[in-house]
Amino acid sequence: MEVKKKDIRALTKEQLREFFVKQGDKAFRGNQVYEWLWQKSAHSFEDMTNVSLETRQMLQDNFVINHIKVDQMQRSSDGTIKNAVRLHDDLIVESVLIPTATRTTACVSSQVGCSLDCKFCATARLKRMRNLNPDEIYDQVVAIDNESRLYHNRPLSNIVFMGMGEPLMNYNNVLKAIDKITSPEGLGMSPKRIVVSTSGVPKMIKKMADDNVKFKLAVSLHSAIDEVRTSIMPFNATFPLNDLREALQYWYAATKNRITYEYVVWDGINDKRKDVDALVEFCKFAPSKVNLIEYNPIDDGEFQQANSKAIDMYVNVLEANNITVTVRRSRGKDIDAACGQLANKS
Ligand code: SAH
Repeated sequence: MEVKKKDIRALTKEQLREFFVKQGDKAFRGNQVYEWLWQKSAHSFEDMTNVSLETRQMLQDNFVINHIKVDQMQRSSDGTIKNAVRLHDDLIVESVLIPTATRTTACVSSQVGCSLDCKFCATARLKRMRNLNPDEIYDQVVAIDNESRLYHNRPLSNIVFMGMGEPLMNYNNVLKAIDKITSPEGLGMSPKRIVVSTSGVPKMIKKMADDNVKFKLAVSLHSAIDEVRTSIMPFNATFPLNDLREALQYWYAATKNRITYEYVVWDGINDKRKDVDALVEFCKFAPSKVNLIEYNPIDDGEFQQANSKAIDMYVNVLEANNITVTVRRSRGKDIDAACGQLANKS
């Protein structure tokens, strides 16, 4: 009977070192192999040229190296690139490269599908199939770093966890991936250039504070009125705004980081003065920044971007209350790569 081989990239460096010691080899061999797997992104044991043939065969007999495969790459007229990424079990997730004049940002997925049910988001329709493993998250970043060097002549500079899935519902693996991304043995990126975006899972926001994480947090708020928020983000019934605010207060006390909110203004949903007043009230407890993001239609017409008068009202009222506000335009819409459009369509 064939024994199911283990994914070698699920092992920590320490575990790899122990494995070699058990095999009667030196612990140091574990470091060499680890370097091949993570720094040099080796796709096969044969690549590991400073390891003996015999050891490579032994590894081959015991392990597999799972890697993602970019199945399809689409390039937008604005330079945005969307990757359809095939996982070892043939499931697909998407990740996006977003170039600006000074940065290249990778927008990566944390789950296949999503367990949340935001009414305005295309990914929500896929349901959650499974969590991504740390190496599957890491590989998306490496793929985009390579594309950035190839097509934009510069390395990746920033990462946002705003692709498919709710990162705080796959917290452990997201954390492990970020460890790898920021470690000198991985990509050596600064955690300050990484943003984890969440719909707001209070317990996990507190855990992030307790874990003393160094990356940034963004909260997809969209409404500061419970009734309205529950109607567009039904899980808000389970995690109401008071709990969310309490968790964010905890986060702010621990990190002293300004809180960033993602917010779309929709016609007839949250475009009135009372909506922006509630937002101001909600933000009061800490220095805040509101990113007003453009709505990317997901084809059923139920949601429509509010008119520019409503956006101007938001900007004016927020600024008058000393809340930083930015109005962000979406990128890559022509290839369905913009926020909330990731749904494995092509
Ligand atoms: N689950 C996480 C990360 C994925 S969504 C979160 O909720 O933050 C990334 C961002 O895109 C979120 O701010 C989300 O609210 C927003 N978004 C979802 N659908 C959208 C759409 N159709 N148009 C614009 N933004 C959308």
